[in-house]
Amino acid sequence: MRRVSAALIVAASVVWTAVLSAAQAPGGACQPTRADMLGPFYVEGAPERNSTGKGLAVEGVVRSTRECKPLAGAKLEWWSANAGGEYDDAHRATQVTDGNGRFRYVTDVPGKYPGRPVHLHVKVSATGHKPLVTQIYPKPGENSVGFDVVLQPQ
Ligand code: FE
Repeated sequence: MRRVSAALIVAASVVWTAVLSAAQAPGGACQPTRADMLGPFYVEGAPERNSTGKGLAVEGVVRSTRECKPLAGAKLEWWSANAGGEYDDAHRATQVTDGNGRFRYVTDVPGKYPGRPVHLHVKVSATGHKPLVTQIYPKPGENSVGFDVVLQPQ
């Protein structure tokens, strides 16, 4: 009985060590980005542009969970409410990451609409990866947000 318990403790600690090393591995920085609600206002085919206003810049790198590799040519589709808190076509954009997986998008600070904190929506897709829909929540008064996106292979 005592031997069985010892074996169980060893097994449990092996599992726990594996969990810890996965969390601490260099790839720990490349955990997949959390998905968030699509909401009712996504429209496919927004014009290609890097700016739909001014006052709020979002920049970062799109990466793969696979070796944390930057994804050149990844597509970002943005949509957000205008200053009045309403969705309009003027605040929709499609952009593509550069050769280093980088993007920079500039828009107006979205207005508040009932029941939600201020947010931007973005859908990110890249060849060989699962598309990700998520949201960015700028803090009040914030005009520059760093936002790296990590996609999972398909
Ligand atoms: Fe929304």
